[in-house]
Amino acid sequence: MSYVQDVLEDLKKKNANEPEFVQAATEILESLEPVFEKHPEYKKMGILERFVEPERVVIFRVPWVDDNGKVHVNRGYRVQFNSAIGPYKGGLRFDKSVNLSIIKFLGFEQILKNSLTGMSIGGGKGGSDFNPKGKSDGEVMRFCQSFMNELYNYIGPDSDVPAGDIGVGSREVGYLFGQYSRLSNEHHCILTGSGIEYGGSLVRTEATGYGLIYITEEALKQRGDSFKGKKVVISGSGNVAIYAAEKATMLGANVVAMSDSSGYIYDENGIQIPFIKEIKEINRARISEYLNYFSKNDLTAEFVEGSNNIWNIKCDIALPCATQNEINEDAAKTLLKNGTKYVCEGANMPSTLEATNVFLDSDIVYLPGKAANAGGVSTSALEMAQRSSKLHWSFEEVDSKLKNIMVNIYKNIDNVAREYGFEDNYVMGSNIAGFIKVANAMMAQGII
Ligand code: NDP
Repeated sequence: MSYVQDVLEDLKKKNANEPEFVQAATEILESLEPVFEKHPEYKKMGILERFVEPERVVIFRVPWVDDNGKVHVNRGYRVQFNSAIGPYKGGLRFDKSVNLSIIKFLGFEQILKNSLTGMSIGGGKGGSDFNPKGKSDGEVMRFCQSFMNELYNYIGPDSDVPAGDIGVGSREVGYLFGQYSRLSNEHHCILTGSGIEYGGSLVRTEATGYGLIYITEEALKQRGDSFKGKKVVISGSGNVAIYAAEKATMLGANVVAMSDSSGYIYDENGIQIPFIKEIKEINRARISEYLNYFSKNDLTAEFVEGSNNIWNIKCDIALPCATQNEINEDAAKTLLKNGTKYVCEGANMPSTLEATNVFLDSDIVYLPGKAANAGGVSTSALEMAQRSSKLHWSFEEVDSKLKNIMVNIYKNIDNVAREYGFEDNYVMGSNIAGFIKVANAMMAQGII
């Protein structure tokens, strides 16, 4: 058995009840085989055994009181996976599905994603099984304050800087930041995605979605093509999906479908993104509300219950922007059969291992999340740079830096894939390019 397979087998035994983490680790480790053939020195230094083990995992109690005076207890997590190239960086997810396996898979992917950005940021992730849906602002605030009371002990502007993710948007970041400031009596850059009024960066809200479109645009451009006139399907209608849809539309694409966990809307004439913004960002309502924006005579959109069937819609470009494992093998085969040419991931690990293999065995241009959704964390790093230099860059300045970063990520993963003999395989390109930088930093720093 190879070194990689040995480590993977051990990982599967040790983490048998963490399916998402095992899935992410399997995809990443298997693609690193050629790296270890080329670099036997990594094995001698136990790089892989150390790489798959988080530096630190913190699990803590989060008690809070609802509007009726009832006490609730949720579980909080922070996984500080790897700080070889910089302070831990990675979002917080509040969702009822959150558990250690999910936070570890996200933290593990984050190491490589952050490395690909070209910035000095390590990998981490955190969150809670708290579900903000249906909670009042007061309840969300009390939860966030309680969560931060404990997380405070483990983060810092030079050690670990969290951000948002599913269920953690500007409202939650504000409450978390407020509590950290109160406890520390200091106004640090401790959470990115902060409001502009208190040190945030322009474009951070748009960054993941815009970044996804910029890297996809580069992939199109390299093939002599563009977004103009392309039919695009986007899953989700949260932060990533909304701004991906907005930028794709700005570039001339026709976004025909978007979803939430209850179902999807389809409109062959193109979805009106401002309505989705109002429904999701302001009213925090269901996507089916979209139909209410049109009079009977004007209505061309339909709502279909059940979000998974969104991949049955014929499209040129599919952008999964909702959650992990939303595209299974059957959905991947359907996309292929329907002539989809590009699958570019805004979400983290939205494709199962089987679905990924369908894409890799086909002519579909497949950009994995760790490269394609790196625009968010890249702009977070730009936010940190602005905070520490006490400068504020304009929207255009941050946007153009974001675009450059995404184009560079594309070029990097494309070159590395070629260098290792896997042309057009961006899973290989992303994993190898991201890993080598981290491995070299770990080599330089000794066995720690
Ligand atoms: P949000 O919470 O803003 O939105 C998530 C969206 O996905 C919601 O519309 C939600 O609908 C929908 N959704 C959840 N589960 C399903 C499902 N099974 N089928 C269809 N839709 C579903 O999260 P983000 O947009 O921030 O994050 C989306 C993905 O992007 C995640 O994988 C996240 O890790 C990743 N990501 C986010 C970054 C960021 O900067 N925000 C950065 C990099 C990656 P509902 O409201 O019904 O639950």
